[in-house]
Amino acid sequence: MDKNIRIAIIGGGPAGLSAGMYLEQKGYENYTIFERLDRVGGKCWSPHYNGRRYEMGAIMGVPSYYAVEDVEKFCGITHDGPKLNRNYKDSEGNVIDPFAKTLGNILRNPWLLKMKKQLTTFGELLETKYKGYDLNGHRGVAEGRYDGYAVTPGRERVQGENPNLKDLSMPFKDFCELNGVPLVQKIWIGPFTSFGYGYFDEIPAAYVLKYLDFQTCMNFVKVNLWTWKEGTQYIWEQLNDHLKHPAKLNSKIDKVERKDGKVYITVNGKVEEFDKVIMTAPLYIPGERMDGQVGMDKYWDIRDDEKALFSKIDYERYDVQAFLTKPEDHPEISYYVFDNMVPEKLGHLMVYYRRWKDQIDQVITTYALRKHKNMAEVPYDKCKQMVLDDLKIMKNPAKEVINEWSVYYFPHVFSEDYAAGWYDKVEAMQGKYDTFYAGEIMAFGDMDETAEYSRELVERFF
Ligand SMILES: Cc1cc2nc3c(=O)[nH]c(=O)nc-3n(C[C@H](O)[C@H](O)[C@H](O)COP(=O)(O)OP(=O)(O)OC[C@H]3O[C@@H](n4cnc5c(N)ncnc54)[C@H](O)[C@@H]3O)c2cc1C
Repeated sequence: MDKNIRIAIIGGGPAGLSAGMYLEQKGYENYTIFERLDRVGGKCWSPHYNGRRYEMGAIMGVPSYYAVEDVEKFCGITHDGPKLNRNYKDSEGNVIDPFAKTLGNILRNPWLLKMKKQLTTFGELLETKYKGYDLNGHRGVAEGRYDGYAVTPGRERVQGENPNLKDLSMPFKDFCELNGVPLVQKIWIGPFTSFGYGYFDEIPAAYVLKYLDFQTCMNFVKVNLWTWKEGTQYIWEQLNDHLKHPAKLNSKIDKVERKDGKVYITVNGKVEEFDKVIMTAPLYIPGERMDGQVGMDKYWDIRDDEKALFSKIDYERYDVQAFLTKPEDHPEISYYVFDNMVPEKLGHLMVYYRRWKDQIDQVITTYALRKHKNMAEVPYDKCKQMVLDDLKIMKNPAKEVINEWSVYYFPHVFSEDYAAGWYDKVEAMQGKYDTFYAGEIMAFGDMDETAEYSRELVERFF
């Protein structure tokens, strides 16, 4: 492709900014990033409080975050944040250790010993029967193929046939049962459901395992995690500062029109002309959003094939509250409440996160899901109240809520569409209409998978 082509990138989150970085590294310098907000980072949002930054969005990474590491190297920064640690509580607020191999615990939870065996089996199955399961993106999976870049420092491109991969389209719960390892869900649930990615009876195994491949899941278990002192938003602020063309903030895109091999974007009332566009903002959003953000169907000259596919996308509703406590009520550490990570406890508090261990006049954040495929959505205010009530039960009541948001989170498709080849159909459209699709839906809703997908997109098409 001609290195001088004019490329528009929509969205200044991890996907859009890293697309800019990888394009620039490949010699494409004629790009423009449009961000609708007055800040970059998207769902990496780290506001300030009392001299420090807390996390309203992304919190952590793992050592296999190679694309994030690319960004760190590009900017000369590193993951220098507070060390994470956590404990567990039951839904009555008692501190527990569900995985302790004490006699009492084993008698209470006889599945504990079996779980260890199933974990070993699962690791072996993923390596053998499901070879190729952990590549970034979903190309070929529904057809029993793998095609992508390995999650290794070298990120070699690998391709092959493996009909067993078709199993990945089924919900993770069914996938585990099929393979005789249902108990591993008790481990995977911690960094999955409580992180807002939905429930195992509704979400295809492909999403669960591409994000939480065996190694990554073990990193969560061992708390081998990265954080950033200035917050995850800092990574993307830094990247933005180091790009030749930082994002144009406050860009309200009124219209995107593709005709005669050109892309016309109307931004803040002015038409700008491009040759290609990379779309990292939401492709589709069902219904009305509280924050007014819209899917591309509302402002693009959307084509029938785009509409047919993108209208299949669903989202989680993931709610975060930031609160202060009285000193005596401040939690001594972060807590996971496993009992509340099941659909029957929709809308309840699943995790609360203490980021700064050396300071108690800092912010604590709470996390709750309020949507499940087969259940009525819990209204926002009701969920908020449930979480505040749960905090009292946990004996860490909130004194004051200082920030909150409800995130349309983790775009995904359900098993039926996954199995019908949704991803291969969208991948086949890459470049058609001079448009490339990136961002969370194309791989997975975390910082690294989105940035990695942008890397691959640039690698494959530019
Ligand atoms: C509470 C929470 C916790 C999380 N925890 C983690 C974690 O611990 N680790 C992790 O790796 N990830 C985590 N994530 C997920 C991670 O933040 C996202 O997956 C990642 O930010 C996705 O990057 P993106 O660029 O695809 O999308 P986004 O971050 O959503 O960025 C999209 C950008 O596009 C902009 N935009 C939207 N519409 C338009 C438009 N019309 N015109 C111009 N711009 C537009 C948006 O304003 C936004 O800046 C978490 C997210 C949340 C909300």
